[in-house]
Amino acid sequence: MKRESVIVALATALVGGLLAGSLAMAQAKPEDTELWKPAPAEVSPPKEVAGPPSDAVVLFDGDDLDQWVSTKDKSPAGWPVANGVVTVDKARGNVETRRVFGDYQLHLEWRIPAAITGSGQARGNSGVFLASTGPGDQGYELQIVDSHDNPTYVNGQAASVYKQHPPLVNASRAPGEWQTYDVIWRAPVFGADGALMSPATVTALHNGVLVQDNAVLAGETVYIGRPAYRPHGPAPIKLQAHGDRSAPISFRNIWVRELPPRP
Ligand code: MG
Repeated sequence: MKRESVIVALATALVGGLLAGSLAMAQAKPEDTELWKPAPAEVSPPKEVAGPPSDAVVLFDGDDLDQWVSTKDKSPAGWPVANGVVTVDKARGNVETRRVFGDYQLHLEWRIPAAITGSGQARGNSGVFLASTGPGDQGYELQIVDSHDNPTYVNGQAASVYKQHPPLVNASRAPGEWQTYDVIWRAPVFGADGALMSPATVTALHNGVLVQDNAVLAGETVYIGRPAYRPHGPAPIKLQAHGDRSAPISFRNIWVRELPPRP
């Protein structure tokens, strides 16, 4: 074959291949892979960092504790509120929300007193029970304690799922500084017979840093022994008044967004 003929044959093959490819392209359309519905609901982002988005249930905005009751006897919570901040009253004990929740996104801010004393678990201990399943400390605790230069067992330091999951990193700020928790709580699901269908999971950011990545819970928090599940429905969110002797911690800016159950 002459050189010219080879070039013509190659060119013909190339054009043919391009045409075949174009035909296939003509059959597949970009719209084929576009998803238009359902449209995600529109939510106005917060005006200031850590402020509540438009669909949040505000649990504490600095004014009063109307959304909270004493865990002990369901009387008004009674923790002191001043200057937009609520401070734990250890004598009154734990407080919990009037409302009950299933799955949710939670934001809260907490501050260890600048002049905190004590060590280990006895230094600014509190906690948020992501679902309160009964009196006292019954529930699933995301730990609050001073973990800035204060060693303790790692599955009991700040941002641990207490006695179950240490935080991925220690993102603690110093005492006296405000700290944030942003939590995605997926409540456990129980069958009609009470059997566990799916365990609770927690994703949490501490001061904007991922500390719990879809951690799977083995059951309710227990101080001694192994965690276990007991069937329950939607539950209050509870704040801990821990009995250690250090000065009480404070909270501000608490809000929650209810989430649809897992598919
Ligand atoms: Mg605690």
